Amino acid sequence: MYASFFEWWFHKYLFHTPKLIRRTFNSHTLTHHQIYKGDHTYYLAEGKEPEHVAMDWWALILFLGVHFPIIWTVEKLTHTHSLWGGLAAIAVYYGVYEYFHWCMHVPNQRPFEKWGVYRFIREHHRIHHVHMQKNLNVILPLADLVLGTYKRDTKREAPTVPTTRRTPTRTSRSQAHRRGPAAAPGKNKPGKNTGDK
Ligand SMILES: [Zn+2]
Ligand SMILES: [Zn+2]
Repeated sequence: MYASFFEWWFHKYLFHTPKLIRRTFNSHTLTHHQIYKGDHTYYLAEGKEPEHVAMDWWALILFLGVHFPIIWTVEKLTHTHSLWGGLAAIAVYYGVYEYFHWCMHVPNQRPFEKWGVYRFIREHHRIHHVHMQKNLNVILPLADLVLGTYKRDTKREAPTVPTTRRTPTRTSRSQAHRRGPAAAPGKNKPGKNTGDK
């Protein structure tokens, strides 16, 4: 639950507001949203290399750093061992976010891409690429519902998902490796972390 609100917050204030960290705004609003729009460009075109899908590599360090004093205080106040578990939960959540966001823009006929829940969040995020101030959640749209930014697009037909299977080239594989574990397809299995949110 907390993750949903945090996801909403950072998407709105780090990714779509230039005031806090200009670089995250540039790489998300000015780059990610310009390449991947709500039409057929939401899905990476066949033969193209995935670019500007994942967050900057230091985003995880930033998230952990921001939460460290908060969770540390919780541990001290409640006398429970929450620090390492809390930080691990953030890292896993980050991995899940990055992996599924990657899969949304780079479809590859993975088994879970047929699942209704996954198709729902993929469509939820596509609408965000049409209306940037709506659907700020990527994984769990709870905060969108509570904070009034939830939007469905019933008028227009969603673009069809490319059905050709991508065979990763050497470059795309090494790029995925450089961008961290979340960007490497197949490392996280779906449903692994549902209990954390
Ligand atoms: Zn996106
Ligand atoms: Zn966005």
